[in-house]
Amino acid sequence: RQTLKIGLIPADGIGHEVIPAARVAIEALGSDIPKPEFHDLLAGFELFKRTGEALPEDTVETLKECDCALFGAVSSPSTKVTGYSSPIVALRKKLDLYANIRPVLSVAPSPDQQPDVDLIVVRENTECLYVKQEELTNGTNGKEARATRLITERASRRIGQMAFELALARPRKHLTIIHKSNVLSITDGLFRETVRAVPSLDSVGGRYNDVTIAEQLVDSAVYRLFREPQIYDVMVAPNLYGDILSDAAAALVGSLGLVPSVNAGDNFVMGEPVHGSAPDIAGKGIANPIASMRSAALMLRHLGYTKGADRIDKAVDEVVREGKTLTPDLGGTSKTQEVIDEVVKRI
Ligand code: NAD
Ligand code: MN
Repeated sequence: RQTLKIGLIPADGIGHEVIPAARVAIEALGSDIPKPEFHDLLAGFELFKRTGEALPEDTVETLKECDCALFGAVSSPSTKVTGYSSPIVALRKKLDLYANIRPVLSVAPSPDQQPDVDLIVVRENTECLYVKQEELTNGTNGKEARATRLITERASRRIGQMAFELALARPRKHLTIIHKSNVLSITDGLFRETVRAVPSLDSVGGRYNDVTIAEQLVDSAVYRLFREPQIYDVMVAPNLYGDILSDAAAALVGSLGLVPSVNAGDNFVMGEPVHGSAPDIAGKGIANPIASMRSAALMLRHLGYTKGADRIDKAVDEVVREGKTLTPDLGGTSKTQEVIDEVVKRI
């Protein structure tokens, strides 16, 4: 590659404050990556309110020409708005970004110490309750609301394979399957069995034999995550459990403003901080830009630009470890821009 075409979709709220941080981090890498070429793209609820469209066709088409992308966050309303549906959920489906990979890593007091928390939540990204097939009917109990929860063998198998692959690349090589098949024996049962069967697939040919497998019911998984996060290495979960678990895990490392993710498919990768649009702090210049910068690093790592990714992560770790330039979510008094400047200086 001569150039790296990167789509930038800040979308809503603090997305506009943190995506520029990812951009300058990438720009600071110089010749460690192909020359970045940024494409600013529109999406989001604010856009929907202005134009009636949350995800313009042009955004999707341009993304298909890009090598990768970074997405900020959307403000999805909690009540139904006619004609609106979340652009991030749509993008994950349209680009077939079937895995949401969310590493949760605490920063150890010194570089030679082990971090307390070092795990990856691998979240299935295309189905479960996020197929959004809901209906409201009138029944003998008044209104009745139903939702379809779809689990397929294909999606469970490919997310399982992705999770085994990630586990294999880590020192501990340990995978925990998260489910609730004591209650949901058909849906979660299919997820659990399909992931468990991945190592025995002919196409895999014994590649994953070194990975140890455990499983945990989702509720007690949250409990154990808070009491003994060290037991986890890679966790693989259906969409909704993975969403909840990774926000919970973010609390263990201090802030949602630290935790990155990538949405990955076989042909495209899109970085995205785990947090949302944070309307409570949007526009104040105090959003933590680190999750977004780490999402850029994770995206580059996924594309094989390890050196560039390492430089961003190392710079972020130094700033967090020093503890002098932190945004309010981490107990500091610094502005977004000050954190960006400190990190970029160290890149
Ligand atoms: P949120 O992640 O936006 O915020 C939760 C809390 O964490 C808030 O107090 C917020 O101020 C804080 N926080 C989040 N990111 C931060 C950062 N970078 N720096 C400092 N503090 C940060 O979750 P929410 O409040 O439940 O949702 C707000 C909106 O975001 C909703 O409309 C929701 O639909 C949307 N959302 C979008 C995504 C996405 O785009 N993928 C994900 C989650 C929520
Ligand atoms: Mn979430």
